[in-house]
Amino acid sequence: MNPRAAHKENQSFDIIVIGAGPAGMMAAIESYRQGRGICILEKMPLPALKLKISGKGRCNITNAATREEFLRHFGKQGRFLKASFAHFFNTDLLQYLQALGVEFKLERGGRYFPQSDSAHEIAEALLNRIKELGIPILTRTNVTDISRLPDGSFRLSAANPKHQPAEPIQAKTLYSKNVVLASGGKSYPKTGSDGSGYALAQRLGHTVTPLFPSLVALYTEGDTAKKLEGLALKNVNVTLWINHKKASEQFGEMVFTDAGVSGPVILSLSRDAVKPLDSQQSVSISIDLKPALDHSTLEQRLLREIRDHNRRQMSSLLEALLPRKMIAVFVEILSIAPDKPLHQLNTQERKQLRLLLKDFRMRVTGHPSFDDAIVTSGGISLAEIDSQTMQSKIVPGLYFAGEVLDLDADTGGFNLQAAFSTGWLAGRSLQGWEPNCSGPQLRQTTGEKHK
Ligand SMILES: Cc1cc2nc3c(=O)[nH]c(=O)nc-3n(C[C@H](O)[C@H](O)[C@H](O)COP(=O)(O)OP(=O)(O)OC[C@H]3O[C@@H](n4cnc5c(N)ncnc54)[C@H](O)[C@@H]3O)c2cc1C
Repeated sequence: MNPRAAHKENQSFDIIVIGAGPAGMMAAIESYRQGRGICILEKMPLPALKLKISGKGRCNITNAATREEFLRHFGKQGRFLKASFAHFFNTDLLQYLQALGVEFKLERGGRYFPQSDSAHEIAEALLNRIKELGIPILTRTNVTDISRLPDGSFRLSAANPKHQPAEPIQAKTLYSKNVVLASGGKSYPKTGSDGSGYALAQRLGHTVTPLFPSLVALYTEGDTAKKLEGLALKNVNVTLWINHKKASEQFGEMVFTDAGVSGPVILSLSRDAVKPLDSQQSVSISIDLKPALDHSTLEQRLLREIRDHNRRQMSSLLEALLPRKMIAVFVEILSIAPDKPLHQLNTQERKQLRLLLKDFRMRVTGHPSFDDAIVTSGGISLAEIDSQTMQSKIVPGLYFAGEVLDLDADTGGFNLQAAFSTGWLAGRSLQGWEPNCSGPQLRQTTGEKHK
C-alpha cells in the first residue's frame, strides 16, 4: 500500500501517533491490528533523527541495570515507570530488536550498543517493521493544533514546516479516535523535538512542569578548562557543591572543553546543577584525581616518591602523579617552582599538593541551552497520566509516551529504554482498545511480545 495514497483517500484514523521517534514508532507498531487505521505524523523530512544520532551515532539503547537501579536513575519520578518496566524492560527490548535482526554487545557501565555500532541500524529495523505493517509515516507534517470533538474524537491541524521562504504552506486537517503524543522534549530542536508537543497537551488541559535542559556540559570560571581542553580523565570522582554543600557525586569519565567540563560524569551531575545555576546559586565541582587513595594513603605515597627520588625536581613528581597536560596548571595553582628539588619540598607544600589532587575545584558559571542538551527535564505532569496504560486521566483516548513526559535520567541507555517502554505500553493499551468499549484494557503480553 502506498502510504501517501492512503493518506489522500482517508483523513480519519483510529490512532494517530504524533512523532516518529523511538516512543512513537514503538507505540504505532504495538497498537497495530489488522484493519485498523493508524498513522504517524512527523514534522521532519525523515523519521527518528534523534535516535540516529544517539550515543554519538552508536546508540546506547539500554542498560543491564536491575529494575530498581534503573528507577533510581530517574530520581523521584522513577516510580511512574514501574508498570511500563514490569511489562517491557531491558531484556525485552533487546529480544524485540534481535527479532528484527539487530545484535547487541554489552560495554562498560552495563551499556548496550548494537554490534554494528550503528544507531541507524536500530532506526531502520523499526522503520522496516512499520513498513511491513503498512503504517504510513507522514513526514513534513507538523501538528500545530489539536482539539477534542463532541464525540470524544480528536481533530488535528497540521502543516508542512517551511524549509524555504518561498515554499507554500500546505495545511491539513486530520481526525482520529485516539492520539498518542510522542513528540519528545525540547532539546536538540534541530532533530525535530522542539517542545511543540507541550503546547498541544496544554491545549487539551494537561499541565507541563517547568522545563530545564538536562545532561549538559557545564561552563567553568577562568581559563583553566581552556588550558586543559581535550584532556579526558578516567576513574575520577567528581562532587557537585551547591551553596558550599555537597549535592551529589559521580565516579567515571570526564573531559575538559574550551569553556568548561563535559563527559558522562559531568552530564549526570548537570541534572542537579542546572536549576541552582538558573537561580544564581553558588555552584562548583571538585575533582578527586586519586579516588582510590584516601588522604593518609596518598600522603604515604607522596612521602615515598619524595624519599625515593629526592634529587629529582617537583615537575618529575607531578609527572608521576598527573596527566602531562595538568602539570602546568598544578604548578600555577600551587606556586611551587617546577625545578624545585624534592628534598626541599616542605610539609605545607606537600599538603597543598595532596589537597589539590583530592579536591581540584572549579567554579561553575553556567550551562548550554536546550540546543545542546541531551534531554529535557520536566514535561507533561505524571500525576495526570495512568502509568498502567499511559492514557491521560483527563482526556480519554489521549496517550503519552517518551521524553514528552516529566521523566529524565542519567546517561547510560536509561532515557531510550523509558521511551521504548512507555511507547510499548501505550501501544499495547491501545491494542486492547475496542471501538465500543469505555476504555482500553491491557492485553496479556506473555508469549506474544511482538507479532
Ligand atoms: C545527541 C543525543 C544523544 C543521545 N544519546 C542517547 C543514548 O545513547 N542513550 C539514551 O538512552 N538516550 C540518548 N539520548 C536521549 C534519547 O535520544 C531521547 O530521550 C529519545 O530519543 C526520546 O525519544 P522520544 O521518541 O520520546 O522523542 P524524540 O526522539 O525526540 O522523537 C520525537 C519526534 O516527534 C517529532 N515531533 C515533535 N513535535 C512534533 C509535532 N508538533 N508534529 C509532528 N512531529 C513532531 C520530532 O520531530 C521527533 O522526530 C540522546 C539525545 C541526544 C540529543
